[in-house]
Amino acid sequence: MAALFGKSLPELTELLTALGQKPYRARQLWDALYRQRVDTIDTITTLPAELRAHLSEDHAIELPQMVQTAVSVDGTERYLMRMADGETVETVWMPDGDGVENTDDAEDSADHRADGKLTFSSRKLQANGLPVDKRNWGALAEAGYRRATICISSQVGCAVNCQFCLTAKLGIRRDLTAGEIAGQVAAVLNRHKVQIGKDRINLVFMGMGEPFLNYDNFMKSVLLLVEGIGIPASRMTVSTSGIEPAIRRFATETVRPNLALSLNASNDVVREQIMPITRKWKIEALLDAVRTIPMTKRDWVTFEYVMLGGVNDQPVHAHEVLALLKGMHAKVNLIVWNPGPGIAYTQPTPEDVDVFQQTLIRNGLPTYIRRPRGRDIYAACGQLKRTVEPEKPADALVQLTA
Ligand code: SAH
Ligand code: SF4
Repeated sequence: MAALFGKSLPELTELLTALGQKPYRARQLWDALYRQRVDTIDTITTLPAELRAHLSEDHAIELPQMVQTAVSVDGTERYLMRMADGETVETVWMPDGDGVENTDDAEDSADHRADGKLTFSSRKLQANGLPVDKRNWGALAEAGYRRATICISSQVGCAVNCQFCLTAKLGIRRDLTAGEIAGQVAAVLNRHKVQIGKDRINLVFMGMGEPFLNYDNFMKSVLLLVEGIGIPASRMTVSTSGIEPAIRRFATETVRPNLALSLNASNDVVREQIMPITRKWKIEALLDAVRTIPMTKRDWVTFEYVMLGGVNDQPVHAHEVLALLKGMHAKVNLIVWNPGPGIAYTQPTPEDVDVFQQTLIRNGLPTYIRRPRGRDIYAACGQLKRTVEPEKPADALVQLTA
């Protein structure tokens, strides 16, 4: 069986032309796959029954299957997604965002209009018992959220071997295809009945794997998500551990998500200890590559910084970070390290995190602390690993399929 989900419009056109069909049939199939997000060929009623039967002989849509879901007290959901060959990855749904403003969400950070007048959000109106026009509400507003962020995996496992990350323990099993990457999004959107155009969805490529070591499939998935599913690239952020040649290539793309670089240390000596890949590409080389990305005044590069107690969380490190990022249009996301079994780091003290953040902010570098999402269900940053189940009451784990 060949997968339909993941094919570009030219690829679908080629397929249907080979079956003797007119090009508009390819457009109908494209719309069914990506706009309507159907999950069986049978339900594509815009196509004649005969063509559906013909296609089904050796094709299936093959959306990743959600085989298990864990629901956190904070609303975060973590899914185990099974691919056609049985390999699994994890995908995370975070209603109301990822705790930092990673994408261009500035407009909903305050109830201010461009003309300076205060507006009241529909939620407030509703809370005050005032009439609300719900015609343009999607599933998210209905559930009381302003937006949601989906965290997607790009590989089964990861080859990069960062010492603090649970995914690293898996090693690399294989790359995901473009269809498997974008398919995680389609499956999650379907579960929550999201209406693109009404609901505000952000995507972060921050799940399992290193997207820039699966560059072609990652970039093809971005095109499917933008042109097919309809999520603008400005609402996506890709996080990389720092693959210099791929960052340079990324800088030349015309459609491009926002970039987040996992800096994680303030000098090469510390970075090499916690991210051995630093032996290959030094911090300065990565920053040089990042500087080649064309940026408008509205664009930022995000630098992620996992704080490890006593390793990279002291004032001296904060000052080194300031020196490194001087002159760049940058913001920093501090991520308090999330523990995992078999990883021998400790969390920083709240005081150290506070001093670190204040040092950066006082010196003009916007710095946020990423709120950990779904830590109780092992869905937080660096905790994704197919086989590990959290120690918590059994009722939070819902088995969807055997
Ligand atoms: N491979 C990519 C994207 C996935 S990891 C990358 O490394 O950037 C996403 C983010 O989670 C990275 O910034 C990474 O440094 C961070 N991370 C990994 N393990 C973590 C942990 N145990 N606690 C907190 N953050 C972690
Ligand atoms: Fe891979 Fe990112 Fe984890 Fe490093 S932090 S091992 S690059 S997933």
